[in-house]
Amino acid sequence: MELEYFGEELDKLITLDLPKRGVIPFLYKAARKISDEPLTLKAAKIIQGLPEKSNVIIVTGFPQTYKALQETDGPLGAIALARVIGEFKASKIFLMIEERAIKVMENCAKVLLTETTKSNLSFLSFPLDEDKARERAIEIISELNPSLILAIEKVGKNLKGKYHSMKGMDVSKYASKVDILFEMAKEKGITTLGIGDGGNEVGMGNIYDAILEHVPNAKRCSCECEGGIACVTKCDFLLVSSISNWGAYGIEAMLCLLNHEPEFMHDGLMEDKVLEASIEAGAIDGFTHKAIKAVDGVDSKTNGNMVEIMKALIG
Ligand SMILES: [Zn+2]
Repeated sequence: MELEYFGEELDKLITLDLPKRGVIPFLYKAARKISDEPLTLKAAKIIQGLPEKSNVIIVTGFPQTYKALQETDGPLGAIALARVIGEFKASKIFLMIEERAIKVMENCAKVLLTETTKSNLSFLSFPLDEDKARERAIEIISELNPSLILAIEKVGKNLKGKYHSMKGMDVSKYASKVDILFEMAKEKGITTLGIGDGGNEVGMGNIYDAILEHVPNAKRCSCECEGGIACVTKCDFLLVSSISNWGAYGIEAMLCLLNHEPEFMHDGLMEDKVLEASIEAGAIDGFTHKAIKAVDGVDSKTNGNMVEIMKALIG
């Protein structure tokens, strides 16, 4: 079987609309139009092409307005990618999330990562304040000189510089202002990847017009900014999926395939454990805003099944 074939099948799996938002077919079509290959294959090839032992920054963090708690979508996908990039590229991984949610990442890492990857892992936070964010971005880029900055389910700014939940609530004061990192990366020629599912995440600027047309709150929000939820921040390559974690798992599956190690893909049991670990550390389901084992309203068993189906496909 050709890699292209697996890429198409993985793309189908990551865009299965179990959260029933009704927008992923449109977002996928738009993202695919500007990609010459299936999204999972293209993203995996970009990662596979990175230099060995380089520094990689993976950023996530979507604070829900309800007590500004971190949702379960994002951290699990970030950890799954850290695991494969750490293993296959021997990269040093810097996992970045809002300060208050670092313990979610730490707990997930404990469950999912191998000892080798753990030893090459650091946790970073990033400022909520815009001026401090600019200073910190300069520091981070010059100190780490990353080969890749990847955002997964990271809330990004709209055209007014504000940050919103899917429902249009202003979450700006809880969100780290990482968009500046992506703007600076572009100036420096550092590769950037984005993964998102709703249109309000970093990287979605690549398909801004499609988001305006199809995402319900893209043009309107509940705050005074009147800029809507659509994110303007762009990246070099955008992957969209119906749950952002699934997008990461699709890339993970493809990387396992590219490296002839299909068995390395995590499994349904590990998925359940890492989801539980995130809840224990204070994460909540982004749909119900409850501390239940679910991601975007999809239960743990179904998430585990999705991982198993991908694993069966590449096995
Ligand atoms: Zn607004």
